[in-house]
Amino acid sequence: MMSTESCAAAGMSCDVAVVGGGMVGAAAACRLAQAGLSVCVVEAQAPQSFAAEQPLDRRVSAISPASIALLQACGAWESVLSMRACPYRRLETWELDGLATRFAAEQLGVPELGFIVENRLIQLALWQQLQALDPVTLKVGVTLSGLEQQADDVRLRLSDGTVIHSRLVLGADGAVSQTRELAQIGISRWDYRQACLLINVDIDGGQQDITWQQFTPAGPRAFLPLAGSHGSLVWYDAPERIRELQALSPQRLAEQIRAHFPSRLPEFRVTGCDSFPLIRRHAQRYVSGRVVLLGDAAHTIHPLAGQGVNLGFGDVSDLCQRMTAAIAAQQPWDAPSLLRDYEKRRRRENRLMQSAMDLFYLSFSNDLLPLRILRNLGLVAAEHAGVLKRRALRYALGL
Ligand SMILES: Cc1cc2nc3c(=O)[nH]c(=O)nc-3n(C[C@H](O)[C@H](O)[C@H](O)COP(=O)(O)OP(=O)(O)OC[C@H]3O[C@@H](n4cnc5c(N)ncnc54)[C@H](O)[C@@H]3O)c2cc1C
Repeated sequence: MMSTESCAAAGMSCDVAVVGGGMVGAAAACRLAQAGLSVCVVEAQAPQSFAAEQPLDRRVSAISPASIALLQACGAWESVLSMRACPYRRLETWELDGLATRFAAEQLGVPELGFIVENRLIQLALWQQLQALDPVTLKVGVTLSGLEQQADDVRLRLSDGTVIHSRLVLGADGAVSQTRELAQIGISRWDYRQACLLINVDIDGGQQDITWQQFTPAGPRAFLPLAGSHGSLVWYDAPERIRELQALSPQRLAEQIRAHFPSRLPEFRVTGCDSFPLIRRHAQRYVSGRVVLLGDAAHTIHPLAGQGVNLGFGDVSDLCQRMTAAIAAQQPWDAPSLLRDYEKRRRRENRLMQSAMDLFYLSFSNDLLPLRILRNLGLVAAEHAGVLKRRALRYALGL
């Protein structure tokens, strides 16, 4: 059983301390505890429990088949499905009407391209698994006040005075990572000249199985289906425009959506919205001594293709596979060479995806006629690219 008691003492030790029990940190904690390591998860705020009558959260993610495989390995996927999740089988993207690129699950011979799930429910399902794993210790409602690296372990000091000695620290504490800062790992950072508004809507016509996105020079407009007769609209635009939209009443916002979203959007009612700044960050290193970064602590990207947490889950799979293989071979699971290999592989993969998103962002965020023609020719070519199109889709889905 998960222990919340043993951390209450002034000091404790464990194999791995995971700072941040969000989706990425909780998945890593699950996999490492399953491999037999003692794990302590340090989390500032526990996720709210689930009730079917709760309105849908605004923070949702498109979860790829590769991420679903990880959640299955954690034993959490069934629990996600028993709460709320929406499969999507079709994906369409275009700029000019009639020139769309379309993807469908049957082109790949898979039942669906992925699922749209509320972030909190993924986290909750993983926490349920952590509760069944021994030995996992959960330290909730605390942050870090210090991190000291020593030859054989790391000493973490928590805000309530607890001291944790662990052989390895995983920093999965999100984009503004305290672990990253305390380990003195720098970042490269770039602000996109866009923010985004996530708008939850009730829709007519029942649950949808398609996600679509229209590019406009001001930024994309996207629709993500949610479980039941619900959807999430994503409006990317200049930060000042997003601030104006967020200040509108639901009725006025709905008028703006009708004026600026594609007419294919089903009849809808706005139920709530939240805005987010868009910032690209990349940690200069993922590893510093016995501290390892994963997920948004290591990288954030433009969310236009819904890849952020999927990359974070890719980090988890890679690192945990290496550590599990070392344990099975009775080799040190915290060897510097193992951590370096993780860093090398994942930095390359994550940089590639960041660059692909930046290419989309830069080539679609302007109104220059030659570029407009080029990018629309690109979408038409992509639509007819056959094998290449399937390959690109497989890559995006992690298949
Ligand atoms: C608008 C938008 C839309 C997105 N859509 C998608 C999508 O469709 N698909 C997709 O894959 N990704 C998407 N993303 C990205 C995705 O949300 C993130 O990549 C994902 O949430 C990162 O997970 P994480 O666990 O690394 O970090 P987080 O979700 O930020 O979790 C970090 C955890 O650490 C805790 N914490 C923070 N600091 C401390 C501390 N000092 N001590 C202890 N605990 C701490 C926090 O409470 C939190 O629980 C989107 C992002 C945005 C902004």
